[in-house]
Amino acid sequence: MQDPHHHGGHGNHHHHGHEPHDASDREAEGEDRPHTPSYLRPPVAGMAQSDSGSDPSLSQSRSVEFDLSSLVSPSRPKSPWGLFDPYNNNEDQDKEYVGFATLPNQVHRKSVKKGFDFTLMVAGESGLGKSTLVNSLFLTDLYKDRKLLNAEERITQTVEITKHTVDIEEKGVKLKLTIVDTPGFGDAVNNTECWKSVADYIDQQFEQYFRDESGLNRKNIQDNRVHCCLYFISPFGHGLRPLDVEFMKALHEKVNIVPVLAKADTLTPSEVKKKKIKIREEIEQYGIKIYQFPDCDSDEDEDFKQQDLELKESIPFAVIGSNTVVEAKGKRVRGRLYPWGIVEVENSAHCDFVKLRNMLVRTHMQDLKDVTRETHYENYRAQCIQSMTRMVVKERNRNKLTRESGTDFPIPVVPGVTDETEKLIREKDEEVRHPDRELESHHHQHDDLPFSFQTQSLIISQLTEE
Ligand code: GDP
Repeated sequence: MQDPHHHGGHGNHHHHGHEPHDASDREAEGEDRPHTPSYLRPPVAGMAQSDSGSDPSLSQSRSVEFDLSSLVSPSRPKSPWGLFDPYNNNEDQDKEYVGFATLPNQVHRKSVKKGFDFTLMVAGESGLGKSTLVNSLFLTDLYKDRKLLNAEERITQTVEITKHTVDIEEKGVKLKLTIVDTPGFGDAVNNTECWKSVADYIDQQFEQYFRDESGLNRKNIQDNRVHCCLYFISPFGHGLRPLDVEFMKALHEKVNIVPVLAKADTLTPSEVKKKKIKIREEIEQYGIKIYQFPDCDSDEDEDFKQQDLELKESIPFAVIGSNTVVEAKGKRVRGRLYPWGIVEVENSAHCDFVKLRNMLVRTHMQDLKDVTRETHYENYRAQCIQSMTRMVVKERNRNKLTRESGTDFPIPVVPGVTDETEKLIREKDEEVRHPDRELESHHHQHDDLPFSFQTQSLIISQLTEE
């Protein structure tokens, strides 16, 4: 993958050598994958193309003589790592470039090197096929050492949360996949508040991240935040059960919920259709905020828009899982064998399995992570900071009143805590109430924390000592 030419010769980036590589490289990129959404395509293509269009020196480039020795000229900024060279175009060769169109490539290389991680939670009543589906989704056996409980154990069992991690690699890209399972959920006789331990688990991951982020080792933070929760809805009920509503409402502000209709092979196609509509209506009616697919840009191509629409209309995804490979029409596929035929997991005429997997992995994994960071975690973080700030303000006021020095809880009077800070708290309050409104500005807000870094960690360490 690495490009040997890249090293050495960084000195003169303004020179433009000639590299008569085939400009059709770029077109091939596009044509290969007509269905790739634009944000998955190499992002530089558009930039370089629009560049060349308006270049007045273009006509001169025809008269430039090719010197083959300059083929390996180190003077021109080459796209490193041989991935995709934005300057590899005959039309561009007479223009002077600084070379920053390679930035996306640099990002690409770095992230590939670092690897990716993703944490998926599965929730719902046991026996709905959660573990089977996860195994089918990622083609691994994540549940090798699972112990199945008997009926008696299940009745007394509390919701216990387990974590399985696998490192998977595909075409040199590494993904650390963590599956968080909530076995036993809904099994007990009394299921009220069974969502509580799940909510606590999600909060604990946020808290850990918040602490790490305020600590000294920010470079190596282990991110265990839950990026998505697949919520399994029973195919045997009439739409949502009270437990489903309660669970989703308790969690929708903390995690991206993607509802799935389990064991869709137990329903006829028209039943699936009706159930989906009913469930979507109920989600709306109860004010449950499931994960919203981002809106498609108006300049996307028609194919992509169509796909996007289909995706939105598939909610809740009707899924079928299977751990066995069966033979269908001479091909070996994952499926379920019935006396009357075979249900294929990956056949989109049979269920939405492929749609769900594409959404989770190919098209929306990064968005799920972004929403987790920018909305769910940010809400948590804002609340934390608010309560910390309130504490300091209260403490300061108490100090002012009693004029006591050396209290048992010696938080220093922070110079920054003024009316200005209280205004900030109020603003933050507003924002938490309307998380969507301020979404864009979220990442800038680290700068206007009411606390200095030291104060923040000091308060945290004091809070945790209590
Ligand atoms: P979990 O408790 O939710 O993890 O459920 P399991 O994955 O252990 O599945 C429970 C049972 O349901 C097993 O016997 C599976 O073979 C079966 N099962 C799993 N997925 C499906 C499905 O999509 N359709 C049908 N009909 N059965 C399934």
